[in-house]
Amino acid sequence: MIIRSEPEMITLGEQIAEGLVPPVTIELLGDVGAGKTTLTKGIARALGIAEPITSPSFTISKSYQSKTKPVRLNHFDFYRLTDPGIMSEDLDESIHDPHTVTIVEWADTVAEVLPDQHIIVNIKLLDDGNRAVEITK
Ligand code: ADP
Ligand code: MG
Repeated sequence: MIIRSEPEMITLGEQIAEGLVPPVTIELLGDVGAGKTTLTKGIARALGIAEPITSPSFTISKSYQSKTKPVRLNHFDFYRLTDPGIMSEDLDESIHDPHTVTIVEWADTVAEVLPDQHIIVNIKLLDDGNRAVEITK
């Protein structure tokens, strides 16, 4: 599908979140600036998370508790990390937690930790500035 604005990307995130039953893992694919964190904002909003969502690039992971549901959102970003080290254990724990939605950006180095069944959202920045989004389950 084609996403034409930041608000549309947030709405898509909200729609994705509607059908989620934890434990669930979402892998986000797309270049820097594609809209991965923007999509995550929509997912977080629909889960009842009030805190602002910021990119976890420097801390590798950020964790948010829903105000309205017994659900956490753990957002991992392995950008430029050649060795995930102990973070792959954190990721593994998050993936299997029955009350957690896990979102992973730049998951190449932790690919073997991801569950066989997970949602993949691929975002491509098009020449006209719109985003092509493909969702695979
Ligand atoms: P990433 O996490 O993939 O690096 P971000 O979500 O942080 O990307 O940044 C995407 C940027 O592009 C934001 O500044 C956002 O406002 C802007 N933007 C413009 N159009 C769109 C769109 N259609 N979808 C998502 N983001 C958009
Ligand atoms: Mg990001």
